[in-house]
Amino acid sequence: MRDRDQTSCPTCRLPDWLCVCSYAPRLTTRTRILLVVHVSDFGRTSNTVRLLALAIPDVAVVCHGVFPAPADPASHVPAGATPVVLFPGHGANPLTPDVVASLPSPPALIVPDGNWRQASRMVKRLPLLAKAVKVALPDRAFAGTALRRNRPEHHMSTYEAVTQALVVLEGEAVASPLLDFYRRATDRMLFVRGKLGRGDVYGGIDGLNPPGQAPQATGGREAGSRPPGQTLSGFRCRPKV
Ligand SMILES: [Zn+2]
Repeated sequence: MRDRDQTSCPTCRLPDWLCVCSYAPRLTTRTRILLVVHVSDFGRTSNTVRLLALAIPDVAVVCHGVFPAPADPASHVPAGATPVVLFPGHGANPLTPDVVASLPSPPALIVPDGNWRQASRMVKRLPLLAKAVKVALPDRAFAGTALRRNRPEHHMSTYEAVTQALVVLEGEAVASPLLDFYRRATDRMLFVRGKLGRGDVYGGIDGLNPPGQAPQATGGREAGSRPPGQTLSGFRCRPKV
C-alpha cells in the first residue's frame, strides 16, 4: 500500500485503488459556504477542505496569501446575505438558532482555514471577514470521527467545524452523510499512512487492493460499502480502468 509508483486520485489524493470520491454525498445547502484557505495549507494532503469541496460541491474556496491576490472574497457572497465568520475569537457569539434568527438576512458562512495565527490575520485584514458577524461553535462534539481519534478533543478539523455549523444552520439531517464520508476518507488516509489497520477502516476496504496484489480480506464487508456495480461517472475523479 506504500508503493511509490502507485497513482493517486487527483481529487481526493488517495491512491487510485482507495479513491473515496464515489462516496461523496454531494449535498446542496441553502447556506452559501466560503472557505478562505491560507496558502501554506492549500496543498497539504491532510487538508480536509478538499474533502469538504467534494462533499458539498457548491462550497467556494479562496486561497489567501498568494500574489497576485485572487478575486475579492466578497464576490463569493450572494447579494443580500449576511456574512458570518466562524472564528472563536474575542467578541464571537455561540452559533445558535436564536443568533441565526436575529440576523437581518440569511447568513453566508465564511470559514478562515489555517493555524490560529493565520486565521486571526485573515479576520483582521480581509474587509469581508473584519466586518462579518463573528460566531463560534457551541459546545458540542461529534463522537468518533476518524481524525479526532488521533487529536486532542479541542482540535477540530475545518470539515468537522463546517459540519457542526451546518447542523445549526440547516438541521441535524446534514450531519450523517457528511460525517459518514469524512470517516471513510480519513480512515483511508490513516490506513495509507500505516496508522490504521485494514480491518479497522470505516466502511470496509475488503476486496480493494493495489494493482497487481492478491486480494486481502479481514472479514465480511460492512453494510454501506461500495455497492456492486457503482460507477464513478459524474464525479470529478479520474475514472478507474
Ligand atoms: Zn478520488
